[in-house]
Amino acid sequence: MNRRKLVSVVFILICIAFAGGCVDEQEVSSPSGEDLVVVVSILPEAEFVEQVAGDHVDVTVMVPPGADPHSYEVTTGQLKELNDADMYVKVGSGLSFETVWMDRLIAVNPDMLVVDASEGIQLRAMESHSHDAYEEDHEVGNDHENTGSWDPHIWTSPQNAKIMVENIYEGLVEVDPGNAETYTHNRDAYIAELDAADANIREVLAGHEGSSFIVYHPAWGYFADEYGLEQISVEIEGKEPSVKDMQRLIDTAKEKGIKVIFVQLGFSTTSTQAIADEIGGEVVEVDPLAKDYIANLANVTAAFEKGLA
Ligand SMILES: [Zn+2]
Repeated sequence: MNRRKLVSVVFILICIAFAGGCVDEQEVSSPSGEDLVVVVSILPEAEFVEQVAGDHVDVTVMVPPGADPHSYEVTTGQLKELNDADMYVKVGSGLSFETVWMDRLIAVNPDMLVVDASEGIQLRAMESHSHDAYEEDHEVGNDHENTGSWDPHIWTSPQNAKIMVENIYEGLVEVDPGNAETYTHNRDAYIAELDAADANIREVLAGHEGSSFIVYHPAWGYFADEYGLEQISVEIEGKEPSVKDMQRLIDTAKEKGIKVIFVQLGFSTTSTQAIADEIGGEVVEVDPLAKDYIANLANVTAAFEKGLA
């Protein structure tokens, strides 16, 4: 068999192998024509968009799974994908990925509708800023990477997620009014699911109000506020804690009977392990950026329930 023949045989085999898949996965085009292209910053937003838009959308996520939304650098390939976008959903809460990149992303495609998912959400202050001991040790106020002292992780509370979904819904109706009815139906259904998730969390965490938990990266502040918990952060202003900070954390953990240090998936560090060893506790991974938002909240809630003193 010569080379050309071999290539065509291999090609045919590949076609046969993939034919079923290709047909099955063909996109269902919306009645008004082409699928919408929506770009988002983080995975939970992709879930919200897909829940409301259903089959009418292709979603692209700028910060890929496993990447850090505080430091992620957009690739040239990703910038090109913005050319086709009808809409961009920014988190809008001062996430440093967006403070660094948003202007450049919009410059690629000034025609896309930019939706601010945080509109109507009350931002909370980051813990470290109300931490007196921290302020004594550090000069506060000079080099914050966020616009100030606000906590950007709005999506970890399902009550905030409902507002984000509403903002996304309004954007979808604006760029694709022909499918407004479908979007309304899907929004209502998903908000009902978020309400059910919220009720479930309240039930699971009942009796734990006032409990504290330690987490390496303070992504769970809105969740903590919503359910009456106190978040204690290992990381301070995005930096590893000093020896003094570590000792203070260990003392706090012992005082409050905390036995679990939560870390973001793949972000376990020597400092978290050291604290866990000191308090005879364990390090548990929870993911604030999982795409499957509601199922993940249930997992996180179960982990918190087990870990709360
Ligand atoms: Zn974060």
